[in-house]
Amino acid sequence: MKTVPRVLVVEDEPAIAELVAVNLRHNGFQPIWAADGDAAQRELDAVLPDVILLDWMLPGHSGLQLAKKWRASARTKAIPILMITARGDEPDKIAGLDAGADDYITKPFSTQELLARIRAVLRRRAPETMNDSVTVGALVLDAATHRISFESEELKLGPTEFKLLHYLMKHVERVHSRGQLLDKVWGDHVFIEERTVDVHVKRLREALGPAGALVETVRGAGYRLTARPRTS
Ligand code: CA
Repeated sequence: MKTVPRVLVVEDEPAIAELVAVNLRHNGFQPIWAADGDAAQRELDAVLPDVILLDWMLPGHSGLQLAKKWRASARTKAIPILMITARGDEPDKIAGLDAGADDYITKPFSTQELLARIRAVLRRRAPETMNDSVTVGALVLDAATHRISFESEELKLGPTEFKLLHYLMKHVERVHSRGQLLDKVWGDHVFIEERTVDVHVKRLREALGPAGALVETVRGAGYRLTARPRTS
């Protein structure tokens, strides 16, 4: 039997929350409403949702603060977060992604757009069929246990960075354009801008620490993972 995905809707405006909840329910999701960060935390402490829809502007802790907090917590770090923002500014979107959101959606949004994005983040999170282990130099990724290490030191990566690294490691030395990475790593990318790839590559390099240099930018072409980084 197919399980119904739980969607935690963190939104302080009851009218919007109700509209979203009705639409989710009609489309095979189980919405749980939390009006602020404290209520959301209580829900997360009880049962983990499959995805979090997180409003940026909330009383008390902002959506941005909550995204950072949940990404830092072992219990909640793997749950996809879709930020809802009324702001259209690029720096805010980047800040949301940097805080750990997987994607963002700008108010006002259509039901279809919202559903498409929720399905997309859920698909991205779907278990890899390739439960293999890949090694590039001293970098080892084990898809089965979701562990990554460099020179035997374990590294912590977010879910999107993990998937991105997995793909790059499986196609080592090959150059991938942003569009190709969106196709292969994100899958459904109709709403995702190519700049999103840059944000996640930046986060990936930071998370890799000393191994970050293995992820190279190929000017005018895209990105590649190499076992032999250029020394500059
Ligand atoms: Ca709000």
